[in-house]
Amino acid sequence: MFFCRLTILWVQILTFIVLLMFFMEGFLGFSFTFSKKTVALHSFLKTIIRMKKITTISELKALLQTDREKGLTIGLVPTMGALHAGHISLVNRSVADNNVTVVSVFVNPTQFNDKSDLERYPRTLEADMALLDEAGCDIVFAPSVEEMYPEPDTRNFSFAPLDQVMEGPARPGHFNGVAQIVSKLFYAVEPDRAYFGQKDFQQVAVIRLMTKQLNLPIEIVSCPIEREENGLALSSRNMLLSDEERKKATKISQTLFKSTTFVPEKSVEEIKAFVKESLSSDPVFRMEYFEIVDGDTLQSVKSWNDASYIVGCITIYCGKIRLIDNIVYKK
Ligand code: AMP
Repeated sequence: MFFCRLTILWVQILTFIVLLMFFMEGFLGFSFTFSKKTVALHSFLKTIIRMKKITTISELKALLQTDREKGLTIGLVPTMGALHAGHISLVNRSVADNNVTVVSVFVNPTQFNDKSDLERYPRTLEADMALLDEAGCDIVFAPSVEEMYPEPDTRNFSFAPLDQVMEGPARPGHFNGVAQIVSKLFYAVEPDRAYFGQKDFQQVAVIRLMTKQLNLPIEIVSCPIEREENGLALSSRNMLLSDEERKKATKISQTLFKSTTFVPEKSVEEIKAFVKESLSSDPVFRMEYFEIVDGDTLQSVKSWNDASYIVGCITIYCGKIRLIDNIVYKK
């Protein structure tokens, strides 16, 4: 009861302040443009209006059209759900940069080349919505597969040479599926900015190129990797690891961190050998690849002088779970 009264009082005070700002702007010595007024009103309403859940593209477009007409900026964070602090760091960034933040939660079947991986991918929409609401997300877009793919998507993208290395050959069709869904989301939301994590290092490069190829006026913002205290990169897949595997998985990032301390004294080949040997000592791991690449072109480098931005990218199975991570060697 006490908290209820306190909330009502708080809302009344905020309403009073906003009304005062609108009607007394001349006396108070400043003047708002129409768009600034709308943005101020929108920010105020955000404190009392809850996040909306939308499942259809038509509803989403209608809602965002009104926001766009008011001059509000829109940020999009595409996700496959099972959200953790890594995803939320992207949402926080979008909320800070934009008036409206849309988070999509959709497990995209066309980017999975392994059916069992798609089937066991965690789905936790209720918990995701609670996290998103708390983070200040305005709209959660959680469509069905039929809504996003009313017809099979037959588009074939090419991102050569970016998609011909690492995840490209390791997961045939993966980036084509990513481009299919992200382009559909871009058309549905028409965001000013879209947020992606550097954890999926190659994906960010591919999305940047796709956005240019399609002439879309969207700023692609890449955000740093969020890690557990022990260094393990946060991933929705971590929840599929057993307790024992989760403990052992910390060795992946620890090995990457350690390898940076040998640069530039040890050669690129020696660093590759160090990482591969360190992680092959435990049979729980099965390395798919570890590549040291030019951070812009994603092509392998042979020496530390080959590029000004150099990144090590790893994909490794821990038990049955496929994990990815990367580390910057030079910037
Ligand atoms: P996903 O749901 O795995 O498709 O990821 C959605 C977005 O969150 C992608 O842009 C990822 O790169 C990003 N992401 C996932 N894990 C992390 C992390 N640990 N730190 C920062 N971003 C992340």
